[in-house]
Amino acid sequence: MTDYPHLFRPLDLGHVTLPNRVLMGSMHTGLEELGEFDRVAAYYARRAEGGVGLMVTGGMAPNREGGVLPGAAGLFTDQDMANHGQVCRAVHDAGGRIAMQILHAGRYAYSDACVAPSPVKSPISPFPPAELDEDGIEKQIADMVEAARRAKSVGYDGVEIMGSEGYFLNQFLVTHTNKRQDRWGGSYANRMRLPVEVVRRVREAVGPDFILIYRLSMIDLVPNGSTWDEVMELVQAIENAGTSIFNTGIGWHEARIPTIATSVPRRAFAWVTKKLMGHVSIPVITSNRINTPEVAESVLAEGCADMVSMARPFLADPDFVLKAKAGRSREIAPCIACNQACLDHTFEMKVATCLVNPQAAHETELVYSPAGVVKKVAVVGAGPAGMSAAMVAAERGHKVTLFDKADEVGGQLNMAKMVPGKEEFHGLVRWFADMLDLRGVDLRLGVAVSADGLAGFDEVIVATGVIPRDPGLVIEGGHVVTYVDILTGREEAGERVAVIGAGGIGFDVSEYLTTDESPTEDLDAWLEEWGVADPGAHRSGLAPEGPQPAASPRKVSLFQRKSERPGKRLGKTTGWIHRASLQMKQVQMVGGVTYDKVDAEGLHITRQDGTSEIVPVDTVVLCAGQLSERSLADALDAKGVACHVIGGADVAAELDAKRAIGQGARLAAEL
Ligand code: NAP
Ligand code: SF4
Repeated sequence: MTDYPHLFRPLDLGHVTLPNRVLMGSMHTGLEELGEFDRVAAYYARRAEGGVGLMVTGGMAPNREGGVLPGAAGLFTDQDMANHGQVCRAVHDAGGRIAMQILHAGRYAYSDACVAPSPVKSPISPFPPAELDEDGIEKQIADMVEAARRAKSVGYDGVEIMGSEGYFLNQFLVTHTNKRQDRWGGSYANRMRLPVEVVRRVREAVGPDFILIYRLSMIDLVPNGSTWDEVMELVQAIENAGTSIFNTGIGWHEARIPTIATSVPRRAFAWVTKKLMGHVSIPVITSNRINTPEVAESVLAEGCADMVSMARPFLADPDFVLKAKAGRSREIAPCIACNQACLDHTFEMKVATCLVNPQAAHETELVYSPAGVVKKVAVVGAGPAGMSAAMVAAERGHKVTLFDKADEVGGQLNMAKMVPGKEEFHGLVRWFADMLDLRGVDLRLGVAVSADGLAGFDEVIVATGVIPRDPGLVIEGGHVVTYVDILTGREEAGERVAVIGAGGIGFDVSEYLTTDESPTEDLDAWLEEWGVADPGAHRSGLAPEGPQPAASPRKVSLFQRKSERPGKRLGKTTGWIHRASLQMKQVQMVGGVTYDKVDAEGLHITRQDGTSEIVPVDTVVLCAGQLSERSLADALDAKGVACHVIGGADVAAELDAKRAIGQGARLAAEL
């Protein structure tokens, strides 16, 4: 008997029965564009082995103009066909099923060849699209149909037609982007003609025994998006046109409401999918911020959907389904929805992987093979780098002792978890602790181990982390504390605060200081904060009154010396959320300042234009970056003891958990 009866109920699609209700949603790896199909095949096969019911590939372009960027992968050449055939065979050999997503980017394409219903430039691409004429539209349909036909011929079990997130098909649906007055524009019946035609003709081309998923934009979250009546009209037409499953899309990419970031509450949009239930006779899939079997089960048990889609959780743990089924949920590596190694990589044109699981999309190259010689390994520092190294070394069979002078594992992660909107870090620390325990790591907490205390080990790994940088301010009074003081609760900030340093931690601390109750823990409060309304009552799901953030308990100003826009270097896909969030809390963000001194009156600064002022504050919080804590490494060095230095102790600049965990895992894989 499983703990998740709804999750493990088979799903009968007529010609095929899926073994469970879990879809691995589309996620671009970037390997396809590199032509590295051995790795693509290994990536999907690994997830098929993990027991997921059905997988959807990253978006494949139907033609050159529809690619998300020049050179976007698709089924164009004989070599492409052979490559994709290899992927399908690998998945089928592993007992899985896979559908190919057909993604036409329309005006979202980062290319001067982009096309759209009307020449309306998108705010997220510098390229104005060319308006398609009648022949051009027919060509797009034909190319999408051909992509589906080819997908079937190389062995895919189905296709997903991307009709949401503001891509090409979505662009025809709304007047925001479709200004046409021919049979493809004007009335809603005309605007929805394109997606319906695509589904109808794809079904005609692939026949009945082929899965056809339509990704439907249920709530656009942009001005002039679809009404709920329009969504329902489209749903009926798309179902009649021959789709087998509806998948849920939430928000256009240009929407200024977060939909998948870690600060979005879990299952935040399942209630939107539920509005569709009972109105269609085919299965409906829900998605967005579902990352544990418990959450997935609750969504299904409450009748919000027939199936759940998770994309990033399968990067974090390919064995999500197997572990859930075997009652080993606590072993599932949690996706913390940080986007740091997956979507941020995609937008930086790098191969996607996972902060928590550096093996993701690196299956062929980062292998944790059993150790040839079992060694006694000491790891000092139970932060992300040390925990990762200890866990992987122990998995390989080494005898690992992990020391930390603190009374708990987690290091800097324990500070991150205190930040409102970063609650997922609690689960990450818990998972590491569980895995260290399961792998038999000898954990010595509350122990400040010295160089002498490390005699007798075959390998010593120093992961002693970082210490806050002292920016050397002139302090003549006033309350000056570090981010560690604030986030550990050692110090309480006053009502008026200056934060020195606008890096990731300066932003986090500002969020902490301006939030009483984390809306991430309260869905209604979060929806209100960001201005999301019932799409049945308000077009596009936008609340007419707009975002309604809770008042900040403090007045916070955030400073940096660089003249660039504060927050410019935050994550590609999440930086805008952090900036918007602080703006909603009226945080003043100021760049280009020189710090003169702090005294009882406040923070004295000189601005870029040479004017000086006193910012009257009760507390100054230092978030001025970090320095490596290398005292143990230096002591070992002085004694001539070889050691491996990783994480922040190695390089503090631009350190994040992604680099720390990756470096720990890669070192341990080699020991
Ligand atoms: P950081 O990103 O390097 O930022 C340090 C800040 O301190 C900068 O704004 C810098 O701006 C300022 N600074 C540096 N030296 C200074 C000095 N001598 N005097 C005054 N100000 C100084 O470091 P962090 O904020 O400590 O973050 C550490 C790492 O954790 C980063 O790599 C960050 O990406 C990561 N992190 C990421 C997230 C996330 O959400 N992804 C969240 C938290 C932390 P100026 O030099 O212009 O003054
Ligand atoms: Fe999830 Fe972050 Fe891993 Fe992406 S990088 S899959 S968001 S944990």
